[in-house]
Amino acid sequence: MSELIADIAVSIPLKQLFSYRVPEILIDSIQVGIRVKIPFGRRVTIGFVLSLRQGQAGDLKDIKEILDEEPILTPELIKLLRWAADYYCHPIGQVIRTSLPAGLGSEKSNPKILTEAFYKPLKQNICLRGKKQQELLQFIVQQGSVGLTQIREQFPSPYPVLQRLVEIGALEVSKQECLRDPFATEKLLNDKCLTLNRAQVKAVEEITPSIQHHVFAGFLLHGVTGSGKTEVYLHAVDQCLRADRQALILVPEISLTPQLVARFRTRFETTGVGIAVLHSGLSAGERYDAWREIVRNNIQIVIGARSAIFAPLHNLGLIVIDEEHDSSYKQGEGFRYNARDLALVRGQQQNCPVLLGSATPSFASYYRSEQGALTRLMLDKRVHGGDLPKVELVDLKDQVVEGTLSNSLIEAIQQALERREQILLLLNRRGFAPFLLCTDCGESFHCPNCEITLTYHQRSRELRCHYCDYVDAVPEHCHKCQGLNIEPQGAGTERLEQELEELFPSAMIARMDRDTTSCKGAHQKIMTEMLAHKIDILVGTQMIAKGHDFPGVALVCVLGADSILNFPDFRSGERSFSLLTQVAGRAGRASGGGRVFIQSYNPDHYALTCAAKQDYRDFYQQELPFRQELGYPPYGHLVNLVFSGNNNPQVQTAASQFGHFLSGIAQAVEVLGPSPCPLARLRGKSRYQILLKSATRPQLRRLLDQLDNGMKQLPRQVNLNIDVDPIDML
Ligand code: ADP
Ligand code: ZN
Repeated sequence: MSELIADIAVSIPLKQLFSYRVPEILIDSIQVGIRVKIPFGRRVTIGFVLSLRQGQAGDLKDIKEILDEEPILTPELIKLLRWAADYYCHPIGQVIRTSLPAGLGSEKSNPKILTEAFYKPLKQNICLRGKKQQELLQFIVQQGSVGLTQIREQFPSPYPVLQRLVEIGALEVSKQECLRDPFATEKLLNDKCLTLNRAQVKAVEEITPSIQHHVFAGFLLHGVTGSGKTEVYLHAVDQCLRADRQALILVPEISLTPQLVARFRTRFETTGVGIAVLHSGLSAGERYDAWREIVRNNIQIVIGARSAIFAPLHNLGLIVIDEEHDSSYKQGEGFRYNARDLALVRGQQQNCPVLLGSATPSFASYYRSEQGALTRLMLDKRVHGGDLPKVELVDLKDQVVEGTLSNSLIEAIQQALERREQILLLLNRRGFAPFLLCTDCGESFHCPNCEITLTYHQRSRELRCHYCDYVDAVPEHCHKCQGLNIEPQGAGTERLEQELEELFPSAMIARMDRDTTSCKGAHQKIMTEMLAHKIDILVGTQMIAKGHDFPGVALVCVLGADSILNFPDFRSGERSFSLLTQVAGRAGRASGGGRVFIQSYNPDHYALTCAAKQDYRDFYQQELPFRQELGYPPYGHLVNLVFSGNNNPQVQTAASQFGHFLSGIAQAVEVLGPSPCPLARLRGKSRYQILLKSATRPQLRRLLDQLDNGMKQLPRQVNLNIDVDPIDML
């Protein structure tokens, strides 16, 4: 007798699907793409139905329960997820779990819609005693109606005061469904649809036919900073909506791009188009709701970061990847997918064009455009005509440097301040100093879990590991020689900020890095203050180089370029060029003719000289021969195998046995290693890596298909993580 069988993915580290019988009573409600409860070993777990078929059920176990009335995975999405699981050699169940909003992949039942207390003023001219009460009431009056979350951001533990204000009739409180959307309070911009310039028109015209005819095509929009790329996206999305299709926009990090999000909302939301903005500030319930709305086809535009590539849109007409070179499109652990690469796959699967945009394209994409696999669209002038900024390379070898800033830079900052211009300072390292040193015996302070020094954070009086977040108090004396002369070495943003405060006491100085922007709204606050010119000098990590449009900035200074350049990675040149070009592009946006200073001990390095000229092509052509010589991407393909475990000798032995196994079967693939990872210890685990390198993908693929045989031999205490197309190999 033929019965209905479901093939089900389970979130465990195994690649296969598991088959279950669909019992009689569930036959009417079972569907592909829903979650079910199934007996699994000795427990009951959640699985995802990926396909249904007729067959001999034999002694297959029964599905216990159905959890969804309608699918949460669409057929298009299942296809993409299966492709990704295969390509990235990652178990399908875990791939699905990573791609779904939190809460959907776990055993927990559906997250509920959250409610929050909202406060509204009732009476205003009421006599209040406490200063706290007055301030809080004034704040609420100004806002009209405010949720508790937002109040908490301004006033620590406000509850007793709120309670009191309600009691005396100054406020009323109501429960509301909360949409804790950081952009809801964002003022919509004064936006009008702009008349495109000639280069923009040409770009949109190239893309439009593939939107209208529902065919895949890949485009690389290479436009200098401020050349109007976003406007091209907006027009392309408009075409997509006209063709009655949906658009997916990926940005590196939503919280860093509120301006872009606001432009999309202003342009389209007012016309009744459904927009979902997926960001980390959403609660599990909100994510779940957004996901359901997308599945139900109530959303036309999805804007999100990396994981939004898995948004369940049925009727895709366009995928845009903004700042496509950005490394945050690559997931750094577990299922290590690259959303930019998956976008191209998804475009092919769903017959829609994919538009990658950047001022400094990744080598991979530029190479593809040279090969003709992507159509290159150029915007080579700034919209407002302004010249690109003048970049000066300051040779530190010729400079008197007392702190972090060379004399040339101090002078330039002084002059800019006198002209009331705003200044950006990039130093890509947070904290006060990268390490503490005992100047008596030379001892430094390391993370007990990781093989790196602890960063000194002066303001919080802590030593912190930037990899595992281990925190320790600042030692009073050296634990080795008991000496008292412990000194911070090198500089991070905190120290730079302090140095600037001493040098320019009357300037308004702010800092933007992960430490100052960890609480909600902090980032936006700095941006708003920058735009209102309440900040003269903004110090920050690479965060300040990303996507901001600060019209008042006329001077940009880059410190610590050498540490980016000397990073032990074959992409360090590409990264330096890209970061420097991006940050330089922040200068003189409105006025034109900004100035940029890059101080370095290697001012002749071509990554720096090309960034100074803002000449992408020159850099590309100088860098390419090195890649070719070493067989690195885009000429070769890499897979990094990382072995980790608690017991160092055991991990080493396992890695080396695995290496022998691979060398025995590899054809036209180089097996390099095993060697200790650059971070040989991380979060308490010892780590070794084997790098696979091949000129052709099929050969590499053939080897990857045989990995399972080797993995069976691995001791259970040793974990293997496979990184296909790695972008950093720490
Ligand atoms: P990019 O994304 O390349 O950095 P944007 O799209 O943000 O550039 O454009 C930079 C500025 O120029 C924005 O303020 C934008 O509103 C403006 N702009 C873009 N295109 C035009 C146009 N065709 N006419 C007038 N202003 C434009
Ligand atoms: Zn650590």
